[in-house]
Amino acid sequence: AVWPLGDEAVWKSGLRGVHTEVPSIAKSIVNHVQTTLARQAYNLDNAGAYGAVAHTVRDDLIINWNDTQMHYTRKAPKRAYYLSLEFLMGRTLDNALLNLGTKDAYKESVAKLGFNVEDLIDSERDAALGNGGLGRLAACYLDSSASQEIPLWGYGLRYEYGMFQQLIATDGSQLEAPDPWLTHANPWEIPRLDVTYDVRFYGHAERFDDKNGIWSGGQEVVAVAYDVPIPGYATKNTNNIRLWKSAPKRGFDLNSFNAGDYERAVESSNSAEALTKVLYPNDNHMVGKELRLKQQYFWTAASLADIMRRFKNTDKPIKEFPDLVAIQLNDTHPTLAIPELMRILVDEEEVPWKDAWEIVTKTFGFTNHTVLPEALERWPVPLFQHLLPRHLQIIYDIDFEFLQAVEKKFPGDREKLARMSLIQEGMPQYIRMANLAVLGSKKVNGVAELHSQLVRTTILKDFVEFYGSSKFGNVTNGVTPRRWLDQCNPDLSNLITETIGVPKTTWLKDLYLIKGILDKVDDETFQKKFAAVKRKNKERLAAYIHSTLGVTVDASAMFDIQVKRIHEYKRQTLNLLGVIHRYLSIKALTPEERKKVNKRVVIFAGKAAPGYYIAKLTIRLIVNVARVINADPDTAEYLTLLFLPDYSVSLAELLVPASDISQHISTAGTEASGTSNMKFTLNGGLLVGTVDGANIEIAEEVGEENVFFFGHLAATVEDIRYQHAYHPVPVEQKSPALARILNEVSSGRFGDAHVYEPLLNTIRQSDYYLLTDDFDSYLEAQKMVDDIYSKDPIGWIKRSITSVACMGKFSSDRAIMEYAEEYWNIERVKLE
Ligand code: PLP
Repeated sequence: AVWPLGDEAVWKSGLRGVHTEVPSIAKSIVNHVQTTLARQAYNLDNAGAYGAVAHTVRDDLIINWNDTQMHYTRKAPKRAYYLSLEFLMGRTLDNALLNLGTKDAYKESVAKLGFNVEDLIDSERDAALGNGGLGRLAACYLDSSASQEIPLWGYGLRYEYGMFQQLIATDGSQLEAPDPWLTHANPWEIPRLDVTYDVRFYGHAERFDDKNGIWSGGQEVVAVAYDVPIPGYATKNTNNIRLWKSAPKRGFDLNSFNAGDYERAVESSNSAEALTKVLYPNDNHMVGKELRLKQQYFWTAASLADIMRRFKNTDKPIKEFPDLVAIQLNDTHPTLAIPELMRILVDEEEVPWKDAWEIVTKTFGFTNHTVLPEALERWPVPLFQHLLPRHLQIIYDIDFEFLQAVEKKFPGDREKLARMSLIQEGMPQYIRMANLAVLGSKKVNGVAELHSQLVRTTILKDFVEFYGSSKFGNVTNGVTPRRWLDQCNPDLSNLITETIGVPKTTWLKDLYLIKGILDKVDDETFQKKFAAVKRKNKERLAAYIHSTLGVTVDASAMFDIQVKRIHEYKRQTLNLLGVIHRYLSIKALTPEERKKVNKRVVIFAGKAAPGYYIAKLTIRLIVNVARVINADPDTAEYLTLLFLPDYSVSLAELLVPASDISQHISTAGTEASGTSNMKFTLNGGLLVGTVDGANIEIAEEVGEENVFFFGHLAATVEDIRYQHAYHPVPVEQKSPALARILNEVSSGRFGDAHVYEPLLNTIRQSDYYLLTDDFDSYLEAQKMVDDIYSKDPIGWIKRSITSVACMGKFSSDRAIMEYAEEYWNIERVKLE
């Protein structure tokens, strides 16, 4: 091939590879201090040093990024696109160094320049463009796709403000502060100011007889691309997330500007920019705001335009679109991509409706993340009609054809038609996004075996009967062992490497290999080393607790951790009431009897959605119960209760390696999968859990004897709720222990007697989440935990070793390869 531009020798002498040697790394860092930051050794602080190091790593990432994208373009393989409104990335520097394999060289280089690389790593701000599990899953999948050399791009929004910062007020309530994470330039993004698309809202739609149409007028805003390189582990392959920022189309509204109405001109520019200002802070709960629907359309329209442009560069006929493109919908948030692709094909590419629908239904896959009714997205038709008039016509056309097919298959079943329609009747009517996502997708999956089964038998039952069961599958979630073992728990990672005799770069990409440590489960030396790692991680967490809360905790006590979004279905209240029970029980013992008590440090962390009143009350009660317990000299030695503010990915990295047990205690059938359960177990913490989500599959792998299960099963939950409604039994009768604790809280023992009544009433009255039914069983499980931990420490260590060894299945590499092979039909494309 002929070199495309100028003198090939000059070009090639200018190109370089990734920095691997100390002198060249140090030189590049100094260069960035001097030119990128315009500083020098005399005025460089940690923040500056972080910036220069990050820019040096960024250069490395960009070199691999360029090579990867050039390779993908030349080979033109089928690619996958992961559409997710959330990417909960956390910090980047440490992960990039570990994936590039250059951490040691950087450590030395940074030390030579007078800084400590770990301090710089800790000074990085989290990228918190997500709420919880769904967004963190997307981040793990990006890491796995690059590591497994799967050509995949993520598409999302570049929120100017991420997940809010959580503060705890003096009365214990949650306060929210904005998260302006971009105020210091973000070294990890590459602005692509030349990659832009216009996105329309409102306006006028016309539909013709062939179901094609025209959409005009309204408001147009511009989507601007920002790329973030995603390095694979021990491979050059570097994938991408493309995040869209909104901008006004002409900077100002020209008419108003020229008419001298500057306020109005600025207003319209502000309204365009407002689109990508802030992440909606709700987890598993739909809030029907117009701005949220605008975000969803803005993001899907820009992403599809970009995907279509890339496809067109291959010069293939449009009917081959599904041979080159697979698009995965992370929950229903990107479902507008289905009518949007129809609009592009039918209105712009002039593809006949029927052919267009065939292309669409071969392209999309839909991952459902919840069966909770309050989380299922539905949009009021009037709002939708106003904002996206052409898409509403398309949805009506899809619905009409679909209902005809249903009527043909199940003649006369009007109720079935009403349930399956894309439109929910009523005043107003609603569009059901899950139904639309099912219709427009080739395959639909849930995120753990039990959840996928519940999807098939409850919310999508009619669709399974209509389409047949082969359209509905399961891909159990996973977590990346790079961040969630090697990065957060380097001592355990090193111990595994030295024990199984397989290089880290091999087993971290084939996690089933850690089973090798099982050979050493009875080896006393290994047990001691394993226990020492856990102890060190607990001390690291204790130091953090001391520095942030000023509380001293005993690292020899059992660390019992529940960290996740605060939600009634996750039942933090059940845990808290259990802690109060423990406190009152210890208090009732004589000093002599207390000496036999298993010492515990119980740790909570998690954010509540700002508008979620009951969840916020839960936080307030935890904080105030902690104040009473931690101040009581009778129990201080045996029980500490803590609420760590501002839960985040980087805080999770500190907590996960330090647990003896962690709690995953959702009402059976409500937690789709959970992923922190996998992270804790992978790091040797045992689970106290309900028979729910991925807890079940974890127990299948590690052995049921190593999981502390309790509570009613999913299959009986409906019946129990029925009994609550029609044959209620008072708490006093069902669980005297629980009734007593509720009364203690009501009596004001933990302050503010009246404040907590609404929270307590959710339990005393309908008790939708079955706390009264599960409480006694929960206490029994906890008693078993205490007995084994205090009486059989070696047995405990063996359970912990066995659990780690059996977690191979839960690598997100396994999950991403299931998607690639069974859902997307995509192969590895390795960069040589
Ligand atoms: N939030 C953060 C910051 C996380 O890191 C994780 C998972 O590790 C989650 C939420 C999800 O936790 P869970 O699976 O317990 O809901």
